Amino acid sequence: MSTSSPPSMVIVGAGHCGGRAAQALREFGWTGAIDLVGMERHAPYERPPLSKELLTGQKTTSACLLRSSQAMIDDGIRLHTHRVAAIDTQGRRVTLANGRVLPYLQLLLTTGGAARCLDIPGAELPEVLTLRTLDDALSLAPRLNAGRSLLVVGGGFIGLEVAASARHLGTRVTLVEGAVRLLGRTVPADLADRVLALHREQGVDMRLGVLPEQIEPCAQGGVRVRLSDGSVLEVDSVVVGIGMAPAVDLARAAGLAVAQGIVVDAGLRASVPGVFAAGDVAEFPSPLSGQPMRQETWFNAETQARVSARNMLGGNETCQQAPWFWSDQYDHQLQVCGEPALGCSSVCRDLGEGDHIVFYLDGQGQLVGMSAWGRAQRSAKEFKLARLLVERHVRADPQALADPAVKLKSLSAQSPVAA
Ligand SMILES: Cc1cc2nc3c(=O)[nH]c(=O)nc-3n(C[C@H](O)[C@H](O)[C@H](O)COP(=O)(O)OP(=O)(O)OC[C@H]3O[C@@H](n4cnc5c(N)ncnc54)[C@H](O)[C@@H]3O)c2cc1C
Repeated sequence: MSTSSPPSMVIVGAGHCGGRAAQALREFGWTGAIDLVGMERHAPYERPPLSKELLTGQKTTSACLLRSSQAMIDDGIRLHTHRVAAIDTQGRRVTLANGRVLPYLQLLLTTGGAARCLDIPGAELPEVLTLRTLDDALSLAPRLNAGRSLLVVGGGFIGLEVAASARHLGTRVTLVEGAVRLLGRTVPADLADRVLALHREQGVDMRLGVLPEQIEPCAQGGVRVRLSDGSVLEVDSVVVGIGMAPAVDLARAAGLAVAQGIVVDAGLRASVPGVFAAGDVAEFPSPLSGQPMRQETWFNAETQARVSARNMLGGNETCQQAPWFWSDQYDHQLQVCGEPALGCSSVCRDLGEGDHIVFYLDGQGQLVGMSAWGRAQRSAKEFKLARLLVERHVRADPQALADPAVKLKSLSAQSPVAA
């Protein structure tokens, strides 16, 4: 065990947010040592392709990497592929599972989370997979091709994207969702219905209000799944997409405040001096409502990496960006920006051929969110402008928002409201 290395900037979690934060520390002028510790065998990578282009073969493993290994080396970022076992906030040091001790000047926790598993008999069988890591995706990919069958458990983003990728490859797909609609409450019911219709059109056997109850191996290979409606399915593989659990155990054991995630202020400072948290694992105050929130999105990982890096270097930045995420399914894209739940009213802009944007306005008529669905190629420009309006908290006339003849760009120019 060695404690001889001088204190450095230590980042625990070498995923998207941790990798970007290390990069940002250099960009913002930090010339001292940076230790980036992650328990996966890979250098930091982006997760969105794992349920999309990596499964369909349109992207390679190396194309998913956040940066080239050379760029990390050039930046002098020391990557340790080990689990962090403990944090001592008094002594300002972390202990790796291999016994190595890293003293820190400032510590950033970007530990993300782990995929939730089913709690039913047979959930541990090798045919039952989850999808969170690159290795998960590499295990799943060879199971998706014509002639194979797949049961997707969960009608959230990851389950739906896996279903779309599997259909693209000719796999027979059944998707079960315990609720009576898809996508929880993250999008309006009408949009969820359109997503449902598209998957049915694409040949997915979509079953709502149904849960798996038991899984057992079939003698001839694959598994037999008993569902809550009494039906039985025989499939080659099962993918469970029922959300993720934030990785907070390390922080909790170190005495940091933890609620739905590691509790941080608007500058991503945790409850103990010298410790920050960012990305999927951080619970931070919403810039709009002040209410605690967690965001499991690519954009949040990107933006919080920069805010945390600035503040580790003594800055005083806060997270101000409106939340945003996208999901690609077939040739369609879904986008949500801002906080639709804060809206008192909504208005739909029909872009034709089923593509549309729903805007959400607060009591003052100010835009607080939007959700959009449509052909990625056809409607991307409108989606981008809609996002810009939400980011600027524009106060717009609902009739103008609804009227496709009124250019969104003109609304952006006319009526920005100070945030
Ligand atoms: C399949 C998939 C598809 C997605 N698609 C989209 C999309 O289309 N659009 C979108 O906006 N978002 C998408 N996301 C979400 C987005 O990828 C995440 O929000 C983002 O990866 C979060 O980054 P993070 O660094 O906070 O966490 P992660 O990327 O999860 O990184 C956390 C890292 O910390 C490591 N770690 C945890 N505990 C320890 C420990 N004790 N010691 C060492 N290391 C540890 C983990 O192994 C992991 O590598 C997707 C996510 C997944 C899984």
